[in-house]
This record gives sequence, C-alpha cells and structure tokens, in this order.
Amino acid sequence: MANKDIERLAKEIKARLNYHNHRYYVLDDPIIEDAQYDGLMQELREIEQQHPEIITIDSPTQRVGALPSQRFAQITHPTAMMSLNNAFNFEDFMSWHRRVSAMLEQDSFELVCELKYDGLAVALTYQDGVLIRGATRGNGYIGEDVTSNLRTIKSIPLRLLDPKASGTLEVRGEVYFPKSSFTKLNNERLAKGQPTYANPRNTAAGSLRQLDYKITASRPLDIYVYSLGYLSEASNNDVYMTQMDTLTHLKSLGFRTSAHVSLVSTPEEVEAFYSRWIDSLDGIDVAADGVVVKVNRFDYQQHLGNVGREPRWAVAYK
Ligand code: NAD
Repeated sequence: MANKDIERLAKEIKARLNYHNHRYYVLDDPIIEDAQYDGLMQELREIEQQHPEIITIDSPTQRVGALPSQRFAQITHPTAMMSLNNAFNFEDFMSWHRRVSAMLEQDSFELVCELKYDGLAVALTYQDGVLIRGATRGNGYIGEDVTSNLRTIKSIPLRLLDPKASGTLEVRGEVYFPKSSFTKLNNERLAKGQPTYANPRNTAAGSLRQLDYKITASRPLDIYVYSLGYLSEASNNDVYMTQMDTLTHLKSLGFRTSAHVSLVSTPEEVEAFYSRWIDSLDGIDVAADGVVVKVNRFDYQQHLGNVGREPRWAVAYK
C-alpha cells in the first residue's frame, strides 16, 4: 500500500475509534461489541508498528479513556491510571513473558493472576485513615470527582480498619454492577416498556457518573480493590513490597478484594488459571473480560517501568 493510502486508512480507523471512545467513556452508551473495538485498535496498532512515523500524540493507541466530563469537578491523579497491554492468545502471552524475562535477566519470577473485572476504574484517597476523595480514571491523568457517589457504595470503607493509619493512601479498584442485578434491572425495564441497558460495564459507569448521588445510591454497585495507587511517606511502606502482600494488606484495612487471585511462577500455571476462569465464567456474579497477569515484586515492576499508556509489568490475557 502506498504511504498516502496507509495514512488515509490510519486516519479513518482513528476517527472510528474516537467516535466509539466517546460513546463508551463519555456517554456510557457503546454501539459496538468490545471485541469489534479491540479488533479496530489492533489494526491501528499494527499499522503504527510498521509505520511509526505516522503515530500522533492524539492517536487512540497513545491515550487512556477520555477527557473527564465538565459536569464534574476534576481531580489530578498523583500517579497516572494506566491501561493494559493485551494478549489475545497464549503465544501473545508468551511474547510478553519473554520480554519481561529478558529485562529481568531471569527465566522464572512470580506472577499474580487476577480476574479483569469489566467495570469502571476508580481511585479512593484516604487521609489519616478517612476517605476524603474518590475519582474516575478519566483520561488517566485527570479524573472526575465522584466522591459523594462512591461514598454510597457500602463495601467502600469510609474509615480504614487501622486506627493508627496516617498520611495519604490512594487505592484503585473496579466499580461494577453485579450480573444478576443487571439482568433483574433489564427485566424490570422491559416489563415497564423502557429501553434496556447494553451491558453491566456501561450500566455501572452510568450509575456512578450521576450528578445526583441519590441515584447512585439506588443502584446495587459494588467494588473490587486491586491495587495501590499512591502512598505518602507518612504511611506504612513496608507492607507494600509485592502485589500479593498488597492485596492481603488492603483486605486487612477493610477493602473488598477478590478471592479469584493466584500466585504462580510459570506460564503453564497462568494458562491453567485462565482455563479455570473460562470454565467458571457463568458462576461468577461479576462480568470479567480476561485475566490480568502482574509481576509480583514491586522492585521488578519499577525496573520494568511503563511504555506509553501501559505498564510493562502487566498484561491483560483476554
Ligand atoms: P482495559 O479496560 O482493557 O484495561 C485497563 C483497565 O483494566 C484498568 O483501568 C482497570 O480498570 C481494569 N482492571 C480490571 N480488573 C483489574 C485488575 N485486577 N487489575 C488491574 N486492572 C484491572 O483498558 P482500557 O484502556 O479502558 O480498554 C479499553 C476496553 O474498553 C477494551 O476492552 C475495549 O474493548 C473497551 N472499549 C469498548 C468500546 C466499545 O465501543 N465497545 C469503546 C472503548 C473501549
């Protein structure tokens, strides 16, 4: 294909992705399936890989989410809330594993497998043990202030269980709409002749991003907290050395963490976790769109760093 044609094709895919991003992240109302969106994104990535000269900073491959809505006050995240690199099959996963091995200069290292919940990423900030702020991911750098809305989710502690908590702690998690409640809500809407909602993910986002927090309170939202975002020096750093220890500690502070987590050290064990997840999909009341695999040790994570909008130390195996 001539360079001009490649540029034209990339421009066309970008415009389509931008349109669908807006519908998904801003309007909470997507009109195509995620797999279709992922396919378009993959096509653009491949074109950009072969022709890096056409990559622009506003390309959907370089951005996370969407700009926060003006309807909410804005919150700047102390550290960026990133996206995740995808692996669509075991070979993709192995390519990621080989890259990480090469950078860590070792073949074997611990990995944490978690479910990739399909909801809305949020950040919760605690000051001296008290919840003071809650934000959406937004574009990864600036999110929306949805503190009052998040305070209505009963599994979010308003005060940490540690009476000596000091300094600032920011944790991150996924707010979701349970699948069973989603089906119930849609059945009720059908019975009333109202239009049904597209999927639990966008219903969760639409329910949380309400100007009237009482509407949020009326929805059965829940959360899984899965990571540490920011910790001030006054906080207790020693307990946060690995992802696995972090999950255990966050649970002891009163957060709802997932039971579907496994510490492994080989790609075959990751594959086994993935197969178990596929087999148990129907039995879990939260929508998930894959497995997130993370390098367990934080010093290794730091060494691996990020590339663009994605950490090198994690991958979403879909
Ligand atoms: P992503 O959702 O694929 O991955 C990053 C997110 O994973 C994080 O922000 C976090 O919220 C979430 N996550 C869930 N469980 C996690 C865990 N245990 N650990 C860490 N993170 C966890 O990234 P994205 O950039 O938001 O990706 C876009 C996704 O949204 C794709 O799946 C895409 O299909 C979908 N999308 C669909 C449309 C559409 O029109 N259908 C449009 C835009 C985006």
